[in-house]
Amino acid sequence: MAQTYDVIVIGAGPAGYVAALRCAQLGMEVACVEQWINTQGNPALGGTCLNVGCIPSKTLLESSEQYQKLKQGLDTHGIQLGSVELDLQQMMQRKHEIVAQLTDGIAQLFKSNGIVWLQGRGKLLAAHQIEVTAHDGSTSLYSADHIILATGSSPVTIGAAPLDGERIVDSTGGQEFTEVPKTLGVIGAGVIGLELGSVWKRLGSEVILLEAVDQFLADVDEQIARDALRQFTRQGLDIRLGARVVKTEVGDEHIAVYYQDQNGDHTLTVDNLLVCVGRIPNSDGLAAPEAGLLFDERGYVHTDEYCQTNLPGVYAIGDLVRGPMLAHKGSEEGVMVAESIAGHSVNPLNHDAIPWVIYTHPEIAWVGKTEQILKTQGVPYNVGTFPFAANGRAKAMGESSGMVKILAHAETDAILGAHIIGPMASELIQECVLAMEFSASSEDLARTIHGHPTLYEAVHEAALAVHGMALHKVNT
Ligand code: FAD
Ligand code: AMP
Repeated sequence: MAQTYDVIVIGAGPAGYVAALRCAQLGMEVACVEQWINTQGNPALGGTCLNVGCIPSKTLLESSEQYQKLKQGLDTHGIQLGSVELDLQQMMQRKHEIVAQLTDGIAQLFKSNGIVWLQGRGKLLAAHQIEVTAHDGSTSLYSADHIILATGSSPVTIGAAPLDGERIVDSTGGQEFTEVPKTLGVIGAGVIGLELGSVWKRLGSEVILLEAVDQFLADVDEQIARDALRQFTRQGLDIRLGARVVKTEVGDEHIAVYYQDQNGDHTLTVDNLLVCVGRIPNSDGLAAPEAGLLFDERGYVHTDEYCQTNLPGVYAIGDLVRGPMLAHKGSEEGVMVAESIAGHSVNPLNHDAIPWVIYTHPEIAWVGKTEQILKTQGVPYNVGTFPFAANGRAKAMGESSGMVKILAHAETDAILGAHIIGPMASELIQECVLAMEFSASSEDLARTIHGHPTLYEAVHEAALAVHGMALHKVNT
């Protein structure tokens, strides 16, 4: 007899483990299937995000930024330093410890919430039935009233640059180098390529990014993307746009990377190569064909806006379904599904209020529509911008490049988008997300009292600037 639960979740990344936790909080009997084995050879919860994604990459970004700051010196602050040395092993150790603390924390939360962790690979057999293949190869059957699929995504690989796990690596290997590569090629100047490229550049690599598309950060507001490209180039990141990699050859010493751009064929020689060309949903083998689960043409599980699949009682969330591949998007879907299973009235996710962040230096963050999208859609809008160069806190921090830009509807003044490039953009954007979630106007934000001196004053001033009322700049 198959063991039965109220809910079984397959996958314990930020989508699946959050769904499991919320279901348990709401009084359901929950099991969660997870197959992850970490670099120490131990089963681990937390998925891509905690093990090889958001958390380790942000840990390395932080460490490398501290190193670079000290290396460049703090003379302007009146601080004289001795020599600054890199201990890469310790930097990696710190990252492993943070990952372990957080993944162990999820295991602890599972225990305290009575969630059963089924270790192994889950497969949907039918609407209410799954099979789990344990790490020793044994199989067991389980059934549940509700099944939530949350198997996430994996890095895309390309034939032009097959991974060898050592010198040609994906984003996981790109966070594990034991020596700083002298020259590092990065295929793909998207979010992950830029973040990991920045880490190794700060630690001393010469970094060359090859990006097939002509436009830099095509999804970002064009004004912000232009500023980002200028700043990254000034830092020494060599970003080559319209450069499509077609072949690689691994030699004894170096890797030859062949690419084409509008000027013809080129060869680049690097020590290591990082392939960051996107991610694909983990849907292969997830469901037995007889189960009849519907997928779209790109391999995502097909769902409605409530994350309900075509099978009764079966839901899919996170990177496995349409929408941005972001941890917080999957987590919110997990909460929504758990609450709808519990019979609560729920709303679909507001996709216009999902924040995006690129943790480079400067950070880039945005929510809602870009100026180019508003133009294409013919939506009338007003723009307010404010530079960090005129913000006292940013000056004190020595972080005065970049700006805040707010786009508001020309008639209703509703905030349609907010775009930030500069210090702590990742944190500042949240004020704009909250404003949009509550359908605020730019005037609402402009009339909200902001503490002084804070970076948030730049958001305040950008909101004032929408109506030509900024106080600390000349309104144009
Ligand atoms: P995942 O986190 O991929 O988890 C899915 C889990 O399901 C995995 O643990 C997997 O082992 C398990 N699984 C798969 N198939 C099965 C099966 N058949 N049976 C059992 N278990 C299975 N997002 C952000 O929001 N902010 C960031 O800063 C950010 N940085 C990133 C940096 C990097 C380097 C990378 C690679 C990604 C980053 N992301 C970031 C993206 C983020 O990690 C993903 O969007 C997020 O992890 C998706 O969550 P998920 O739960 O859908 O899937
Ligand atoms: P993202 O989708 O943010 O992860 O970014 C991945 C990037 O990789 C995209 O901007 C793609 O255009 C880029 N890309 C994909 N294939 C290639 C290739 N063969 N050569 C160079 N860039 C590529």
